[in-house]
Amino acid sequence: MRMAGVFSDLLEFALPQRCPGCGAAAESERLLCDACRDRIPPFAGALCARCLALGRDPTPCVRHAGFAVRAPWLYDERAALLVHALKYAERPGLAAALGEVMARALPPGYRPDLVIPVPLHRVRRRERGYNQAALLAASLAAAIGAPMIEDALTRVRPTAAQARLGPAARRANMAGAFRLAHPDAWAGRTVLVIDDVLTTGATLEACLATLRAGATPPQRRPADASALVLAWAQ
Ligand SMILES: [Zn+2]
Ligand SMILES: [Zn+2]
Repeated sequence: MRMAGVFSDLLEFALPQRCPGCGAAAESERLLCDACRDRIPPFAGALCARCLALGRDPTPCVRHAGFAVRAPWLYDERAALLVHALKYAERPGLAAALGEVMARALPPGYRPDLVIPVPLHRVRRRERGYNQAALLAASLAAAIGAPMIEDALTRVRPTAAQARLGPAARRANMAGAFRLAHPDAWAGRTVLVIDDVLTTGATLEACLATLRAGATPPQRRPADASALVLAWAQ
């Protein structure tokens, strides 16, 4: 596994890199050429992780305050090439350039007290070797000058694939899946949760709900949490 990764890195270095979107020359650390990257549709707005309602900053949904998700891009075939390479093709280095793309989707002047990634369950993390959300979170945190803690949220149990589940079943599937280490430490803090793609919203909804459940009594102040992803798969 590791040797294969090193070998493919060497090949990338030795061979001219071609953009998988159009075949033009492209920088290896960016995968897509500038033209293909510029054609990924921008998304300027905020969504609600609970009901996927679209809205304006700072509140995407008047019914579910505290579940805002922002994204710089809509998920198209070019964004999919980037996400798949980052996630499954041993190209963790792609995350470096994506942090700055993600930073552009944040409201002007917004700087969270803490950036945290959506965690992978440790079994999957071991299989993949890294958590792509943590790579994006580190890159974004560096771009905006905020601290990142990789294991502030942990996934306490593996969850079934969400794709075929309805909204209620998804919520039940994710309930209690995450645990916040030291919840009192994050009470009243501004926390930004990072993931790669927003699809059903169930995973981010569960993470944000865990942060909102907040500190233990008598303090009971929840974190001021929102989320940021690379792309929204409509
Ligand atoms: Zn291209
Ligand atoms: Zn909502």
